[in-house]
Amino acid sequence: MADKLTDIKEELALANRILAHEGVLDAFGHVSVRHPADPGRYLLSRSRSPALIEPADILEFTLDSEPVRPPTAHLYAERVIHGCIYQARPDVTAVCHHHAPAVMPFVIAGKPIVPVFHLGAAIGEEPPFWDQQDEFGDTNLLVVKPEEGRSLARALGDQSVVLMNRHGATVVGADLKELVSRAIFMCQNAEYQLRALLLRAFMLGTAPTLPRGEIKLAGAISRLPNVVTRTWEYWSARVDGGSGAAAAPASPGKGAKPARRKARRKK
Ligand code: MN
Repeated sequence: MADKLTDIKEELALANRILAHEGVLDAFGHVSVRHPADPGRYLLSRSRSPALIEPADILEFTLDSEPVRPPTAHLYAERVIHGCIYQARPDVTAVCHHHAPAVMPFVIAGKPIVPVFHLGAAIGEEPPFWDQQDEFGDTNLLVVKPEEGRSLARALGDQSVVLMNRHGATVVGADLKELVSRAIFMCQNAEYQLRALLLRAFMLGTAPTLPRGEIKLAGAISRLPNVVTRTWEYWSARVDGGSGAAAAPASPGKGAKPARRKARRKK
């Protein structure tokens, strides 16, 4: 069993880093997994940004979200999200709570995320919304109290995703790999859905285009030698991390200007 626990801690740490790398988690958000030997416990990192999590950061919690051993580090404030879902859903083995940029426009606008491409179907037909304001009035929007966690778990119901108004989303899975792919596909889906909505809005209306004559005259601008030189120099400099090494100005007079300005300032 010790080996199984070691393996799952490694997998959980990796799941955190994958979701951070794929833009689902940033400094915030967290992933947990049910204990492989005791369904009455779950594993979750100490409070740390997901990109940095190592197996040694993983701690054990009861389903009341209390640490099994006295903690020596800060804990995530929103642990009840995990504990309350594990209590309500025996079929769930992994949980992720996040504020991914791809989902934020939807949970701010209150617009449902619905599957718009084949892999996006991993989120289910239409994930429910949960608004903390409905039951708890004004809060700081963190899900911290057990009753808040239970309310969120009720809103999730038997679905795989619950959208949290003005906050983020919580995703569940039958195992860590299913959870990670669902969370990533959900974000891809949200990005495609938003872009497709914008594209459709353009298709329904008439895109404001330049008149033909303007296209001809303005089109010549991008081919002017000074424009080509200037953009090439700028984009080359960006390749070099903005060091300016690749952007040595063609005219020495121009290049000397900043130095002269600095010298004057020193006086
Ligand atoms: Mn949160």
